[in-house]
Amino acid sequence: MSWQHRIRDALQQQRAAGRLRQRIINQQGDARWLAVEGQRYRNFASNDYLGLSHDPRLIAAWQQGAQQYGVGAGGSGHITGYCRPHAELEAQLADWLGYSRALLFISGFAANQALIAALTGKQDRIFADKLAHASLLEAASHSPAALRRFAHNQATSLQKLLTPQEVGDTLVVTEGVFSMDGDSAPLAALQQLAQQSGSWLLVDDAHGIGVVGEQGRGSCWQQQVKPPLLVVTFGKAFGLSGAAVLCDEDTAEYLLQFARHLIYSTAMPPAQACALQASLQAVQQGDELRQQLAANIARFRRGAQGLPFRLAESSTAIQPLIIGDNQQALALASQLRQRGCWVTAIRPPTVPPGTARLRITLNARHQAQDIDALLETLYDAKG
Ligand SMILES: *Cc1c(COP(=O)(O)O)cnc(C)c1O
Repeated sequence: MSWQHRIRDALQQQRAAGRLRQRIINQQGDARWLAVEGQRYRNFASNDYLGLSHDPRLIAAWQQGAQQYGVGAGGSGHITGYCRPHAELEAQLADWLGYSRALLFISGFAANQALIAALTGKQDRIFADKLAHASLLEAASHSPAALRRFAHNQATSLQKLLTPQEVGDTLVVTEGVFSMDGDSAPLAALQQLAQQSGSWLLVDDAHGIGVVGEQGRGSCWQQQVKPPLLVVTFGKAFGLSGAAVLCDEDTAEYLLQFARHLIYSTAMPPAQACALQASLQAVQQGDELRQQLAANIARFRRGAQGLPFRLAESSTAIQPLIIGDNQQALALASQLRQRGCWVTAIRPPTVPPGTARLRITLNARHQAQDIDALLETLYDAKG
């Protein structure tokens, strides 16, 4: 088959399965509102949990950073792209989260790829939660290490995999707060099992950092666990983009030698690191924002009790409504849009078959009237 045929075929199959992904142009949006084709919608699809993406303090920090350092790093961090704002931010993150070192990456996806590729070899094993993010599972499947998946959030399922091994090392991989379900991993149990077996635990806390734990320090802090490898990302509660790996001194030096995403890729713009420093400060001082978010979550969950859909066991900003059927989930999302609420329907293979859902995300900028409008529309649409 030629490339052209193969590509057309693949697209045809996606279309036939009702799985064709299409982008929309968000003409102007923030955490609370977005505009698509001239229509304004209440935004229930954003990961900007604290609404920091439009915070004037962050915008000013980015502008000042650009004045001082320009808009680009000019090279890999291994050449001349590593600047003072990067070094400061790394030190601040390490200090805040109680690790010896933090290393910046341009995205969470890159951090996970780099980490797993640099650490794991042919003799090793990766045991990952079944629902771990695509960036983790993709990296694990590219790794020459053996990949096994354990039942979602089931420490006993992991325990069965952790049999004594003659050769190689084991990396246990999970998220702090799961992106499609909003539930939290049993980190203490996982960390204990990992420790007992001499394995390392990697926690990707993309959806927990900034949102849960004292000062927003995330899931690990909240559950009083310190895994050897912690990935935090800045595209969600931090309101920007980028990521950091938190680890010990030796691991950081090792990653600087062997993580190709650091060596062969342009460093994050220094101005962005300036904005991230401002964002870190806003997160640290963000108790009011987190309280507002918690109030919104409580309001939504109270109101959604009477709906004929299963509300996921989630106390976080991610509040999925499990619809089950793909077409019904799509129809519901479309009805919500007609009534001015933007909610994304998530279908397999992103989630397990038969669990198509509305992935409703709440944030600190929503007002009570936004939550009520969403609930009213859901009650009207169900019939
Ligand atoms: C969003 C997300 C990522 C990817 O992070 P980016 O910085 O957006 O590339 C990684 N892991 C999890 C769990 C995520 O939700």
